[in-house]
Amino acid sequence: MAPPDPILGVSEAFKADNHELKLNLGVGAYRTEELQPYVLNVVKKADQLLLEKGENREYLPIEGLAAFNKVTAELLLGADNPVIKQQKVATVQGLSGTGSLRLAAALIERYFPGAQVLISSPTWGNHKNIFNDARVPWSEYRYYDPKTVGLDFEGMISDIKAAPEGSFILLHGCAHNPTGIDPTPEQWEKIADVIQEKNHIPFFDIAYQGFASGSLDADASSVRMFVARGMEVVAAQSYSKNLGLYAERIGAINVVCSSPDAAARVKSQLKRIARPMYSNPPVHGARIVANVVGDPTLFKEWNEEMEMMAGRIKNCDNMTNKWHVYMTKDGRISLAGLSLAKCEYLADAIIDSYHN
Ligand code: PMP
Repeated sequence: MAPPDPILGVSEAFKADNHELKLNLGVGAYRTEELQPYVLNVVKKADQLLLEKGENREYLPIEGLAAFNKVTAELLLGADNPVIKQQKVATVQGLSGTGSLRLAAALIERYFPGAQVLISSPTWGNHKNIFNDARVPWSEYRYYDPKTVGLDFEGMISDIKAAPEGSFILLHGCAHNPTGIDPTPEQWEKIADVIQEKNHIPFFDIAYQGFASGSLDADASSVRMFVARGMEVVAAQSYSKNLGLYAERIGAINVVCSSPDAAARVKSQLKRIARPMYSNPPVHGARIVANVVGDPTLFKEWNEEMEMMAGRIKNCDNMTNKWHVYMTKDGRISLAGLSLAKCEYLADAIIDSYHN
């Protein structure tokens, strides 16, 4: 028997518990104040549009839906980013954030033999699985400082400096999981300086664009700053959280290259990796994203809904609870799983656990 997954296994245990006050803070999924899953209004509208159009179910090309790939790169980099106009970006639709990271990992394994990926300590639990399965060596850089409950910036910088030249540095674009601590703009500049000095390659995982600040542009500023320096950048995107499209498995891998020619080659290699893995990606989520991001009215509405969701998560700073609280063993909790009504319950549980 394989052991249960440390995050998704928590959801299985939660389902099996019948206590009326049970609370699942394990999985990173947004909930309403009533603790129900939330389907965004813009997603419902896009769904309706697709139904009216009566779209077919033909296979997508290996690289995914062209209209999706266009808008996803624009959303990440800014629509008027010169690298897009100069066709220096290779974008391939992936199976959400996880699948997109897995494609990038396979690309690293194939074309950068022996290159290391540096991941933050701590990080999202699946990062290590992804690189292990892709047979990409990884090590950790210091990130969280328990003394200050903040960023160990000096530790982070010295570990990135000490890594072998040409390493991939995995960075959370915004809303670092699990610490919630992001570098300041000034710190990002210094991180970019060191990465550039050491000829490392910045590798962004941006799974929460819009969720950290409520603004899509502000949350992508880290990635855009690296690109503006003329660096080659890898960035995996996910629409699980910010559009609530978890089960549609929609995301992308973007590689910003030094020339259009290099971008064309990288894209062809990503397609070659995807073909024997899953052949081609699913269409529905891609159509939803293309419709929401590509339509000015829906796009505006999405921004408003996202601000509302980000605001609700920030509201829960006085957390609470008791015996039936489900969370991963490292103490990480998803605030999106908490409602105001359950705050007192959570606080009782934390105090109770602290005293025992
Ligand atoms: N990266 C990070 C940091 C995450 O927290 C998550 C989701 N928990 C993902 C990637 C991937 O999620 P998905 O595959 O659903 O896009």
